[in-house]
Amino acid sequence: MTCTTLFVDDDQAVLDSIRTNLHSKFSIVTATDPREIIPALEAGKRFAVVVSDFKMPGMDGITFLSRVKDLDPDSARIMLTGHADIKAASKAVNEGNLLRFLIKPCSLQDITNSVYAGLEHHKIATSERELRQRMEMVIHGTASGTWDMNVQKGEMSVNETWQGLLGHTDHKPSRIKLHQAQRMMHPEERRIFSNALRSHLHGLTPHFTCDVRLRHRSDAWRWMRICGKITGRDEAGKPLRMSGIMTDIHEDKLTKQALTDQISFLDEMIDAFPYPVFVKSADAKFASVNCAYERFFGVRRAEIVGKAASDLGHLPKAPNVDFKTEYQRIVREFGASHHEVTFSAPDGQTRHCLHWSHAFRHEETGVQGLVGTIVDISEQKLVERELAEKNRKLADSEAKLKQLSLTDELTGLGNRRFFKGRIREALSLSMRHGHPLSLMMADLDHFKFVNDVFGHNAGDLVLQGFAKILRTICRKEDTPCRSGGEEFMIILPMTSVQEAEMLGSRICHAMRENDFLGNGAPVTVSIGVTQYERNESYQTFLERVDQSLYRAKKQGRDRVCS
Ligand code: GH3
Ligand code: MG
Ligand code: MG
Repeated sequence: MTCTTLFVDDDQAVLDSIRTNLHSKFSIVTATDPREIIPALEAGKRFAVVVSDFKMPGMDGITFLSRVKDLDPDSARIMLTGHADIKAASKAVNEGNLLRFLIKPCSLQDITNSVYAGLEHHKIATSERELRQRMEMVIHGTASGTWDMNVQKGEMSVNETWQGLLGHTDHKPSRIKLHQAQRMMHPEERRIFSNALRSHLHGLTPHFTCDVRLRHRSDAWRWMRICGKITGRDEAGKPLRMSGIMTDIHEDKLTKQALTDQISFLDEMIDAFPYPVFVKSADAKFASVNCAYERFFGVRRAEIVGKAASDLGHLPKAPNVDFKTEYQRIVREFGASHHEVTFSAPDGQTRHCLHWSHAFRHEETGVQGLVGTIVDISEQKLVERELAEKNRKLADSEAKLKQLSLTDELTGLGNRRFFKGRIREALSLSMRHGHPLSLMMADLDHFKFVNDVFGHNAGDLVLQGFAKILRTICRKEDTPCRSGGEEFMIILPMTSVQEAEMLGSRICHAMRENDFLGNGAPVTVSIGVTQYERNESYQTFLERVDQSLYRAKKQGRDRVCS
């Protein structure tokens, strides 16, 4: 935009001289009749500087320049006259809001300097207006009212939005005294407001901010946030002007208040709960805990609210659950979690607990978080452990009893019942896999005689000695059992009758080598062996081994027969 200077003078000679001498420095427009200019200004034509003569036919300079001020407020206005008395001059300055008042005859240098000053003034006025417009747009966008105050006079100017916020619809900026504005405030906030204002004026705060209730036109109180800042000082540096905005925060404030009320109500409710309860915000910081929680962990509510578990010492450093990740998941999925955890109580004891938490979301406010409770199950745990120990002992005793019911007390070998179970297993394995299975039946010779001559105890020792020989000679796959009295059965899996015979011979030999009775006369044993034949019955198998033994006895004892 070119910055044009307008010269208005009814003397064409003056205009010609100006044009001739100044056209190289400025963009110049001239007019002899001010009335020609008014329609152009009304149509939006703008000048940076307007220099006007005082006395002109049709319209005088004062009227003209004051019209220019109204139509083109950014312009710098200069009066150039040869007919001025002091009264006219002061009228011109006041009504036309003049930058300069020049007296004819005036040097070209003075005119040039004044036009330069006018151009500078116009530049500042234009940028100030643009800035103000931009600010107003921003403020308008936030639906805030603006205020501007002469601090020293205690006078405020407020715009129409400011008034609109309080229900006044004059649609005009207006002025009010500071004390009037303070009287519009709720008594509870008046002192807070004064203190905040004083602090800022004394340089204690960089900005002034205060939430107050103001009387609405409907007579109701409405919460407003008033913010501002010192924007001008006098020559002594004392605050002169303050400007700022006022925003309606009523709904916000009420919502927050309702939330606070709700939370304190909830606090009372959860306090009545006998178990520790905690409420956490979505970022897993404590929002509240109940009395039971305070007692359980030995903490104070005020100390932990607003903090994350990681900032606090009362929870275990390395719990068996990663609660941070767990809580994030619950809030994200709007889910729940249950865990059995251990905590260290203030008395140093380990407490076993059920830890339950569930996410929540408040429909209206959108507030999210989670609520949880901790149930101390240490007592139950103790009972559980004692019960488990008792059960274990019972199972042990049962196993021992079973063992006893299958064991021969004197020799420690399996008894007849044990033998019956084992021979069936061995038979079915042999049948399934086609492996050879042999059975050995051993009966001590003339044992009645041993008992009669050496006593029952000596007999018992012989029986134990024989059992020991069986254990030593038999392989670990073989199963020697005492089937009754002085009679023994030995199950020999994967063994042919020939191998069984060899084994029997070694047993007989071992008996011969022993001197159980200490008289040099060994106790001998007769042994029958037989191999299982495919598809024969258990009974037949047993009868055959019995017959083999019978043959061994009959053939003179101390031998093996098959
Ligand atoms: P044979 O050579 O024909 O087998 O003659 P035997 O005397 O060994 O046979 P018999 O069946 O006549 O006698 C077996 C004896 O074994 C009778 C019984 O008192 C004895 N006996 C059985 N059980 C035990 C026991 O647990 N301890 C002792 N010491 N003797 C026992
Ligand atoms: Mg016998
Ligand atoms: Mg015998």
